[in-house]
Amino acid sequence: MIPRITDSLIHDAIQTENMVRAGRAYWQQGRVGDLEIDSELNVISAYVKGSARQPYEVTMIFGEDNPDALVEADCSCPVGYGCKHGAAVLYAAMAELSLGGHVPAIQLAD
Ligand SMILES: [Zn+2]
Repeated sequence: MIPRITDSLIHDAIQTENMVRAGRAYWQQGRVGDLEIDSELNVISAYVKGSARQPYEVTMIFGEDNPDALVEADCSCPVGYGCKHGAAVLYAAMAELSLGGHVPAIQLAD
């Protein structure tokens, strides 16, 4: 399960306050694309248009046992993880999930 994305989760996942702020601005500028929220694999992924020509690819993986724990916040930019691009994606996911735009797949018992 993807946890509820909150401001404190974002602050824990991202290295610095400046990166959180820059990421929020990126999201507001519409730089996040192809947002995918997979609540079965606990993965959020998206592309973020940064300063480079190619958009950066961000992958967020949440823990299975402790869904509040973000186990990976990878990004293809030079920083590599916990960066402003990750923050942008988390803000986009927070908006998507809280707006109810995403309907999780029905879990079938096996
Ligand atoms: Zn990055």
